[in-house]
Amino acid sequence: MLVELVSGKKFECSHGVSLLDAAANAQISLPYSCKTGRCSSCKCRILSGRSEALAIEIGLSDDEKKAGYILSCIRTAASDLTIDAEDLDGIYIPEVKTLPARIDCLQKLAPDVMLATLRVPPTSAFSYLPGQYIDVIGPGAMRRSYSIANAPNCRGHLDLHIRAVHGGAMSDYWFNKAKENDLLRINGPLGSFFLRSCASLDLIFLATGTGIAPVKAMLEAITELSVDEQPRSVTVVWGGRVVADIYYDIQAIGGRHTFLPVLSQAHSEWSGARGYVQDALLENGPDLSDAVAYACGSQAMIASAKVELFKAGLAPNRFYSDAFVSSGSI
Ligand SMILES: Cc1cc2nc3c(=O)[nH]c(=O)nc-3n(C[C@H](O)[C@H](O)[C@H](O)COP(=O)(O)OP(=O)(O)OC[C@H]3O[C@@H](n4cnc5c(N)ncnc54)[C@H](O)[C@@H]3O)c2cc1C
Repeated sequence: MLVELVSGKKFECSHGVSLLDAAANAQISLPYSCKTGRCSSCKCRILSGRSEALAIEIGLSDDEKKAGYILSCIRTAASDLTIDAEDLDGIYIPEVKTLPARIDCLQKLAPDVMLATLRVPPTSAFSYLPGQYIDVIGPGAMRRSYSIANAPNCRGHLDLHIRAVHGGAMSDYWFNKAKENDLLRINGPLGSFFLRSCASLDLIFLATGTGIAPVKAMLEAITELSVDEQPRSVTVVWGGRVVADIYYDIQAIGGRHTFLPVLSQAHSEWSGARGYVQDALLENGPDLSDAVAYACGSQAMIASAKVELFKAGLAPNRFYSDAFVSSGSI
């Protein structure tokens, strides 16, 4: 079956192969993240033709399904198709590799957040775009996704911010068993949650919990941009339950940005913002006409922020997100 993008690019998709994989086989990059039909980063619209879901599209609402939206990671073609999907071909996306990686150091950033710094072989020439994630393949071939929390650096170190999930198999490894020099494997870089060109735009970053990890990497990258490439403004809104959840000093990254921590279960002495990150952002009615939003963390925050920001005037193609849905396969 032949699939055509609105950009005019075309690729073949055999029945049973996902549109995302078929596009990748033809060297065409479409947006994606979890690849399991949950996070909805690969949401796009069928303009003509028939397609079939390969699994349940949990990441789509009934209204979106009725409006012709699909998730390209778990949809295949049932006839020739035309689809409206963001074509990332103008952007250099580094090659995906599987590499050995050793734990360089482990450090608790909060009672339930571990900083794991991995080092890859210096000869591997591993590169990534700030905001992307990797799959870590651990003991027993257990595989989990983690965003890289630092912009690329010459030391070849990859920082991961890992939240302990109650009863989680990989969490048990990181928090109870992992030690420096352990040998793991990584597969990546993955996903399309990375900084697009941002010159003269108002950037908004919304994060909950360890969703700050890719935001930190992007903020570091912004400090390296030339004057002409710089955004007009940067606002970072980071939400947690209690003070300990705001475990990193975002101001220490440097650059000009407004930082707004928001707590949902703050004690009475907390004088900062309370509630949800999207509400805290929108409280003072910001002008979103030249804004681009990057949201990362809980799926509930992302779904709600998307609706609220669009209502407040954000353009539909200016919301990028990475939902930290469960990535467990073993
Ligand atoms: C693209 C992507 C990037 C990610 N980046 C990060 C990151 O940078 N930092 C980070 O801490 N996590 C991140 N995650 C989540 C991470 O990959 C794991 O899913 C999570 O750490 C749990 O793994 P586990 O083995 O401890 O739990 P599992 O053994 O896989 O699961 C234990 C139980 O917890 C539930 N569960 C698992 N994950 C979640 C979750 N996220 N929310 C709610 N319930 C869950 C499972 O359904 C299961 O019932 C990311 C996920 C994705 C898809």
